[in-house]
Amino acid sequence: MKTRLFLYAALAVFCAQPMTAQNKIVIPDTKDYLVLTGDMHMHTIFSDANVWPDTRVEECYVEGVEVLCITDHMEARHKRMVNQGLFNCDRNKSYEIAAKRGKELGVTVIHGGEVTRRMPPGHFNVLFIDDVEPIADVDDAHESHLEGGMAALAEARKQGSFNVWNHPHWAAQSPTGAIWHDAHSKIFDAGLMDAIEVYNSCDGFSMEAFQWCIDKNLALICGTDAHKPMFMHLNANAGELRPVTLIFAKENSVEGVKEALNARRTAVFADGRVYGSPELLKMLVDACLEVVSVTQSGNTTRVTLKNNSSIPMILTKGEGGEQAAYTSFNIIDPFETHTYGCTGLEYKTPVAVDEFVLSFDFENFYTAPGQHFNYRINVKKPQ
Ligand SMILES: [Zn+2]
Ligand SMILES: [Zn+2]
Repeated sequence: MKTRLFLYAALAVFCAQPMTAQNKIVIPDTKDYLVLTGDMHMHTIFSDANVWPDTRVEECYVEGVEVLCITDHMEARHKRMVNQGLFNCDRNKSYEIAAKRGKELGVTVIHGGEVTRRMPPGHFNVLFIDDVEPIADVDDAHESHLEGGMAALAEARKQGSFNVWNHPHWAAQSPTGAIWHDAHSKIFDAGLMDAIEVYNSCDGFSMEAFQWCIDKNLALICGTDAHKPMFMHLNANAGELRPVTLIFAKENSVEGVKEALNARRTAVFADGRVYGSPELLKMLVDACLEVVSVTQSGNTTRVTLKNNSSIPMILTKGEGGEQAAYTSFNIIDPFETHTYGCTGLEYKTPVAVDEFVLSFDFENFYTAPGQHFNYRINVKKPQ
């Protein structure tokens, strides 16, 4: 327990320190997939935020965020907010403006909207839609929050939508933490829930949502849900990175992102931590952690590892590494290297070994609540 507390303290110190080398998120692609960074929940001045849509795209471009979902609130509230003498336009305008800028800057912009109902069922994002108007109209036709929400999700599905339950742990709607209501069983059983936000900047990470995604085979989603300009949410000069969904896609396009989400190939990188399935995290670490060199000096095999990503790696010695003696705790910061001096042990005396396993528990990578990701590297002594 003490060790864990120390590690969390170390992580907190890391997160607070300036990271001047790189403020753009960099994640190498895996052997089989592009690893796209996405902000899947974003508001503009066309609902209740105060930022113009193409500025949202420019923020992504500067920060290295490759995919942006425009998800302004829909329903009658949209009209109340937007038509206060400033604008008179339909509910697709924010996407249209952002998509045009996205084409210019190479940011993939996805058309979405936020179904904004009281809990239960709460808020849902519908992504990859063509037209917000009929979805909002169907929603508005119902007084009941559950009936209106479900009708909107079903209407969006007619357009091929991907439906995300947003911020189930938002304190304003669920002050005692995330609760799976009967309404959510109804939506899930009707096949109208594809994913849950396990991280939303308003309230951070939700352990309950993470577990529900695992149990029900739903995609892990992260969205900032930003309403203010990003510089009000993040201190980029201090090295803070935007929380993002990691999308393992075959191509960087709207269709490529949709295919990856439907196949549940997503993970989340937020506040220096990563959440995802063991399979995806293995692919991710294979891509990010490079064995730069293996050399021999006397009984010691020196293995140099390099972290080629923006993700810090907090490593402890894991199960399966018993054959070799090497340091039991280390942090490999983004774009830094670390050399492990490894020996075998015989009666507590260092000896050379021909082959051994470096086994690491990634203390800031989670495959389930409380479950750390384990990664192993087979090392052969150089001839
Ligand atoms: Zn919301
Ligand atoms: Zn929102």
